[in-house]
Amino acid sequence: MSQAKPESKPAAGGRAGMNEEPPEHFRAYQHVWVFVEVERGQVHPVSWELMGAGRRLADKLGVLLAGVVIGAPDGGTSEAVAEAFCYGADRVYLCEDPILAHYRNEPYTTALKNIVNSFKPEILLLGATNLGRDLAGSVATTLLTGLTADLAGSVATTLLTGLTADSTELDVNADGSLVVTRPTFGGSLLCTIYTLNSRLQMATVRPRVMPMPARVERPLGPVTPCRLLMDEKDIVTKVLSFVADREASMANLAYADIVVADGLGLQSAGNVQLVRNLALSLGAEFGGSRPLVQKGWIDSDRQIGQKSKPAAGGRAGMNEEPPEHFRAYQHVWVFVEVERGQVHPVSWELMGAGRRLADKLGVLLAGVVIGAPDGGTSEAVAEAFCYGADRVYLCEDPILAHYRNEPYTTALKNIVNSFKPEILLLGATNLGRDLAGSVATTLLTGLTADCTELDVNADGSLGATRPTFGGSLLCTIYTLNSRPQMATVRPRVMPMPARVERPLGPVTPCRLLMDEKDIVTKVLSFVADREASMANLAYADIVVAGGLGLQSAGNVQLVRNLALSLGAEFGGSRPLVQKGWIDSDRQIGQTGKTIRPKLYIAAGISGAIQHRVGVEGADLIVAINTDPNAPIFDFAHLGVVADAIQLLPALTETFRRRLSPHS
Ligand SMILES: Cc1cc2nc3c(=O)[nH]c(=O)nc-3n(C[C@H](O)[C@H](O)[C@H](O)COP(=O)(O)OP(=O)(O)OC[C@H]3O[C@@H](n4cnc5c(N)ncnc54)[C@H](O)[C@@H]3O)c2cc1C
Repeated sequence: MSQAKPESKPAAGGRAGMNEEPPEHFRAYQHVWVFVEVERGQVHPVSWELMGAGRRLADKLGVLLAGVVIGAPDGGTSEAVAEAFCYGADRVYLCEDPILAHYRNEPYTTALKNIVNSFKPEILLLGATNLGRDLAGSVATTLLTGLTADLAGSVATTLLTGLTADSTELDVNADGSLVVTRPTFGGSLLCTIYTLNSRLQMATVRPRVMPMPARVERPLGPVTPCRLLMDEKDIVTKVLSFVADREASMANLAYADIVVADGLGLQSAGNVQLVRNLALSLGAEFGGSRPLVQKGWIDSDRQIGQKSKPAAGGRAGMNEEPPEHFRAYQHVWVFVEVERGQVHPVSWELMGAGRRLADKLGVLLAGVVIGAPDGGTSEAVAEAFCYGADRVYLCEDPILAHYRNEPYTTALKNIVNSFKPEILLLGATNLGRDLAGSVATTLLTGLTADCTELDVNADGSLGATRPTFGGSLLCTIYTLNSRPQMATVRPRVMPMPARVERPLGPVTPCRLLMDEKDIVTKVLSFVADREASMANLAYADIVVAGGLGLQSAGNVQLVRNLALSLGAEFGGSRPLVQKGWIDSDRQIGQTGKTIRPKLYIAAGISGAIQHRVGVEGADLIVAINTDPNAPIFDFAHLGVVADAIQLLPALTETFRRRLSPHS
C-alpha cells in the first residue's frame, strides 16, 4: 500500500489512553447504517458503494447493516428500498412524507435525527455529495445539542459529534470504534480519526472512493416505517421550482468509464483541445491536474485528484510504495535533553517508547546528546546506554553550554542530515518544544506535537496519535512526504523503562562548526526562579486535586491540607485555574500536566475527557464526588460518593494521625 498506509487500523490498537472498555451507554448504539440518497427519483450510486463498505464493517463487528431511505411516497423510495436489499442491507428504515418530496435541509435533518435517536446506530455513513455533506453536517450538529455546550466554533462542534468528512478508508476496532482515515494538510498527511465521546460515529465518503459492490437480486427484507411529524407550515425553506442546471452537461468524471487527462505538460490553454479531441473520439470524459484549473485552462469541476474526484479505489493520489529516497533514512532516534547538567527524565521515557518502535522495525535505537564538554554530557551518554540506546551521537562544544535555539538547531539539524534517522523523538518540554519546532521547520519535515501514542507500520511510517478538537477526537498523523518523522511527547505520557546497568556502546562524535560571534542570542546570567518551589506535579508520587465541586476558592485549602498530610503535590481541574483559585502550573489534564502518580485523589472533579487523559496513567485513582453518575467513576479505581468539603478534612485528620511519627 502507500508509504503511510495505516493498515486500516488505529496506529496503536488502543484508544489513546482511554480505557479499553467503551462506556456503558455506548452499548445502546448498534449496527451500521448507510443513508441511501434518493434525489429526484434516483439513488446516488455512492449509496451502494457505501453499502459495500458498510457490509465489511458490519461483518467485522458482527452486527446488522441497515439502509435509511427518506423521501416522498412514490418519489423513488420504494425502488430505493428494494435496491438496498439487493446491495446487501439486512433492514431498511423508511421515512416517507410528502414534505420530503425534494431535499430541504430542515425536514431531512429532522427525519434522519429522529430515526437515529429512536434506533441508535453505532455507525452512520453518508455520501460526500452536495446533499450528503449538507445533511451530515446538520445532523451531526443537531445531535450534539447539550453535549458540548462549552465548545465553540461550528466546525469543531460538527466534528465533535464524530463526523469525519471525505474519508478515504473506513475500518472498525473490536470495541466498535470507527477508524476513519482522511487526507489532511493538503494531502501531505493522512489522519486517522476516532470519535471518543459519542456513539453515533458519522463519516462521509466521496463518490468512487469505495468500490461498487456486486448487486445480487434479493427479495425485500424487513422495513421499519418511521414518521416525520412535521408540518409544512413550520418549514422555512420552500422549493418553488427546479431550474435546469446551466451546466447540465457538467463533467461526470467520477462515474465515467474512460477518462482522458493531462497536466501542465500541455503547455498552453489551447492544447487542452487536444485532450478534449481524444476524449471525444473515445466517447470519454476529459479532466486535468490542479495547475490546469489554477491557470483557468479547465473548469474546477474537471480537476482530478485529492481535492476533487479520486479515481475509484485510489488513496488521495499517493504512491503505493514509499519514495526511493526514504530508504536512506533509518533507525529511531531520541533527543536526550541535558539542561544544566541534568537529563530530563522524559528522555528516558522516550527511550522506552523508541525501543519498542525500533524493535518493531528491526532497526537501531540511538540517543542524541548535545551540550558543552563537562556539562553533564558524558553522564548522559553513559545513561543512554543503560536506558536501551544501541548508539549515541554526541555533539559537544562550549557554545552549547546553555540551551539556545540557534546553535542547538544547527547541531541537531547537522546530525540528522549526516546520519538520517527515520524517526526522531523529543520530549514536549519547554526546551524540546522549542527545538523540535525549529528543527522540523529547518528540515522541512513533519512534526506531530504532544503525542499520546506512537506506533509504526511495517513500512516504517510513524503513526503519531494525539488528542484534537478539545480532546474529544484522537487523530493519528502520518508524515507522508518527508523524513525524518518527528514527534514530541509530554513528560509522563510514556512509562519509564527499567534502567539496566550496561557498558558504554558506540559513540559517534559530531562537530558543531559554529562560531560564537555568529550567534545572536547570548546568555548573560541565570536568575533564580521566583517560583523555584513550583509544583512538580508530573513526577510526584502522590497528587491530590480539586475541581469545581470545592465550590469556593477558600476550600482549595482543604485539598492543600490533605496533600500536606500525605507529603503530596496538589493540583486541580481547568476551571479552578480559570477562576484564579490555583496557579496554571497546577492544572492537570490535556492542556495542563500529565501525571503518573502512585496515588491520585480527585475531589469534586467530574472526570471530563480533557481531565481524564492527564490522569489515566496513575496507579490508583480515588474519586470523591457527590454524584454517583459522575464520569470519573468510569475510570477511578476507588470511588467515594460523598461531599468532598466534609470528607477532605476528615481524611486529612486521619492521615495526619496515622502518618505522624509519634502515632
Ligand atoms: C480545549 C479544552 C481543553 C481542556 N483542558 C482541560 C484540562 O487540561 N484539564 C481539565 O481539568 N479540564 C480541561 N478542560 C475542561 C473540561 O472539559 C471540564 O470542563 C473540566 O475538567 C471540568 O472541571 P471540574 O470537573 O472541576 O468541574 P465540573 O465538570 O463542573 O464538575 C464538578 C464535579 O463536582 C461534583 N461535586 C459538586 N459538589 C461536590 C461536593 N461538595 N463534593 C464532591 N463533589 C462535588 C459534581 O458532581 C461534579 O461532578 C478543557 C476543555 C477544553 C474545551
